[in-house]
Amino acid sequence: MEIGDMILETFAAMSDEEKERCIHCGTEWYKIHHRDGVCHRCQQESKPGRKQLAARATAKRRLMIGLLAVAALLILYCCLTRQS
Ligand SMILES: [Zn+2]
Repeated sequence: MEIGDMILETFAAMSDEEKERCIHCGTEWYKIHHRDGVCHRCQQESKPGRKQLAARATAKRRLMIGLLAVAALLILYCCLTRQS
């Protein structure tokens, strides 16, 4: 293998390792341009990062559980008042 090829291959391996795919637009960017899985361009459009999305999902799940609890209580209340 020629030295030029070796250098090119090394650079390719390095860039492969340092590139990350944006969770919004799917474009591969170097990690320097990434923050929380979001590329620089999407950050400027103030799109949420991975952690923010996870936090939102957790908040949504908690809200759903809360709503289900309220619904269950309402059903229970209706059943109890109908019987008496
Ligand atoms: Zn992006």
